[in-house]
Amino acid sequence: MEHFDVIIAGGGIAGSTAAKFLAKSGLKVLFVERYKTPRNKPCSGIQFKYFEKILGEKIPKERLCNVNLKRIKMYLPNGKSIGSSFEMLNFMRKPFDDWLNIIAQDAGAEFRDELVCQSVEEESDNVIVSLIDKDKTMTKHQCRYFVDATGLRPKIRAQLRPQDFKGKSVGATLNYYIDGEANLDPETLYQFWNLDWNNAMFAWIYKKTLDDNKDYWVVGTGYNHGNITEIQELFYNSMKEKFKISGEIIKKEGYSSSIDMYSKDRVWLGQNRILMVGDAAGLVDQVRGVGMDAAALSGRLLAKAISRADKKGTKAIDEYTKLMKRVTSQTIANQQKEINVHENNEELQRALEKSLLKTGMNMFIQTIINKFRSPEKQKLLPP
Ligand SMILES: Cc1cc2nc3c(=O)[nH]c(=O)nc-3n(C[C@H](O)[C@H](O)[C@H](O)COP(=O)(O)OP(=O)(O)OC[C@H]3O[C@@H](n4cnc5c(N)ncnc54)[C@H](O)[C@@H]3O)c2cc1C
Repeated sequence: MEHFDVIIAGGGIAGSTAAKFLAKSGLKVLFVERYKTPRNKPCSGIQFKYFEKILGEKIPKERLCNVNLKRIKMYLPNGKSIGSSFEMLNFMRKPFDDWLNIIAQDAGAEFRDELVCQSVEEESDNVIVSLIDKDKTMTKHQCRYFVDATGLRPKIRAQLRPQDFKGKSVGATLNYYIDGEANLDPETLYQFWNLDWNNAMFAWIYKKTLDDNKDYWVVGTGYNHGNITEIQELFYNSMKEKFKISGEIIKKEGYSSSIDMYSKDRVWLGQNRILMVGDAAGLVDQVRGVGMDAAALSGRLLAKAISRADKKGTKAIDEYTKLMKRVTSQTIANQQKEINVHENNEELQRALEKSLLKTGMNMFIQTIINKFRSPEKQKLLPP
């Protein structure tokens, strides 16, 4: 049986970031990914500049989309809009995650793709991890710590904590990629706040680059109940008319989760020698509208927690819980603030009008302060 200090299941943002920082601290790390890489991942791939600070890397230009996002324009339920300059990172997850996998390997972590983490067994000082390859051969590996970084359908968390999941999908998103024209600015991220189109956050339009190096308009939304295709069609048809979007839909991508996002235990960081990071820990935040920053930060803080525990002889889960306190509190607090607390669009309009100035000012201030904060103390935005 091969032995590692840490085995990580999942080669996404959280898994690769944890692998990089664990390997940098001198540990023997294996991280595995179920799909052949580079793999696709449905995601808008938009992040704040401080994301690079958390990763500890400058993202190479060739891993970003051709189009830089420089502005945000918010459409309110009453149809009026407000906009501001705001630079964001814009990338597709296939080239981006592939780059993060390479960064972690360069730091010394071992990476194997097409390997599915099937189950884990806890022993007093170790965890035995069962992995299945594409020929359905199962191998067992031993590690001191196991990390579940398997995203919104977390394999091991589901086995350990079935109570954190609903039997069915509890939220879904759908994106259409359009090869055509629109009366829209390609460097703007458009947000549409309207309960008929997205009842958790906003619906969106932006421009992305696909594998053929061509740019496409992406129109998408998410919904917590009902039929996501019907909601998306409603939104898409309305946008088509409003912005004269022409051309063909060349790709549709969707995603759904069954983690109970409204449970008091939605954020769960693990137990004993089994630790959760990123979406698997329940850190995706529908109020902030993002999750990759929390995923990367949790991966980085997990590495620090294990180093600390090894040095001090303490429990890694306790160190990790302490280091994650601010992120956990922010995510749990936001859980109460989803826009579906509003009965209708008039109420949502009033709430947005009331909070917009304060949120905007806060964003501006925290963006500046983040430049001076250490990578591990970044304030996740919007605050
Ligand atoms: C449509 C959509 C749009 C989004 N847009 C944004 C955005 O613009 N900005 C943002 O910050 N966030 C966005 N998010 C959220 C973001 O995608 C997640 O928060 C982020 O990907 C979490 O990273 P992760 O590493 O935890 O999980 P993932 O990125 O999901 O990575 C998990 C990895 O684990 C692998 N895996 C799964 N099971 C196993 C197994 N048993 N064994 C081995 N490997 C396994 C998966 O294949 C995957 O590669 C969006 C999400 C969706 C669905």
